[in-house]
Amino acid sequence: MEEEIGLLGLGIMGMAMSRTLLRHGANLTVWNRTPSKCEQLVEYGASVAETAAAVVKKCKYTIAMLSDPSAALSVVFDKDGVLEQICKGKGYIDMSTVDADTSSKISEAITSKGGSFLEAPVSGSRKLAQDGELVILAAGVKALYEEAHCLFDIMGKKTFFLGHVGNGAKMKLLVNMLMGSVLAAFSEGVLLAEKSELDPQSILNALDRGGFANPLLLTKGISMIESCYSHACPLEQQLKDMRLSLALGNEKAVSMEVAAAANDAFEEASIMGFGGYDFSAVHEAVKDLSIRRRID
Ligand code: NAP
Repeated sequence: MEEEIGLLGLGIMGMAMSRTLLRHGANLTVWNRTPSKCEQLVEYGASVAETAAAVVKKCKYTIAMLSDPSAALSVVFDKDGVLEQICKGKGYIDMSTVDADTSSKISEAITSKGGSFLEAPVSGSRKLAQDGELVILAAGVKALYEEAHCLFDIMGKKTFFLGHVGNGAKMKLLVNMLMGSVLAAFSEGVLLAEKSELDPQSILNALDRGGFANPLLLTKGISMIESCYSHACPLEQQLKDMRLSLALGNEKAVSMEVAAAANDAFEEASIMGFGGYDFSAVHEAVKDLSIRRRID
């Protein structure tokens, strides 16, 4: 793509996505709240802007990859933010995981200034972002989705267009609610295997050959067995998504007892200090809750 592309937010995912875009020849300008993170992209050909507004001024399409709803809102509405420069002919694509209300507020503000908006949260990890293998859940202005499709093809292996704004956010929360619930239950299975004097590795082998085979569980299972949790998919983010999905369940009057129980385990792991570790560290909370149950 010849046009200038902007990217706001160089955390785990934004950094990996920027590297992937640069590897494919994108004309990329980046901004991050902590400016020092931009420096490492300069040697790969990125330009650096001093504010989010300056990125939007320079670029036809600006992507955001920010931690949570408050960060996504702040980068748009605060001083030197996106709204100061967005206008007709420019597109804003928010790939952060947020709730549908946050996405709608951003969409309305961008649209009121004449810009086009897409939400496009992703399923995947740093590794998949580096390899251009994300799954992208887009919703919003269809024309922008079509114009930006070549960017999605670089960053992802599959992009879905889900209709109006909010649908991408809801789908992403639903996927992460399922992932968190399954992972917490899986952690109990690993612990039960250990307590039943089964080799926990043998559950992974058995699962790998059956209908429940799943690459995520295999990787996270090894982390749990070895109590070794990297920080690629931080538990704090999974907890944010569990909370947002429970709020969605509440709004839609769906009973989510299983997800609520899983959420409790993630809350406990966060209290235990595992928020910055991979979300498979929920296993530490499951172990701790089991010890406490024995004591009681
Ligand atoms: P991260 O490493 O925590 O990075 C968060 C980014 O948001 C950083 O650039 C941070 O800036 C910025 N930020 C936070 N608060 C801000 C504020 N108030 N104003 C401006 N910038 C702010 O997060 P990540 O892992 O890249 O994840 C980004 C999004 O993708 C999240 O919504 C997450 O749920 C989602 N996601 C993550 C993964 C994953 O595996 N990590 C996978 C799929 C989806 P500083 O550098 O200054 O702190």
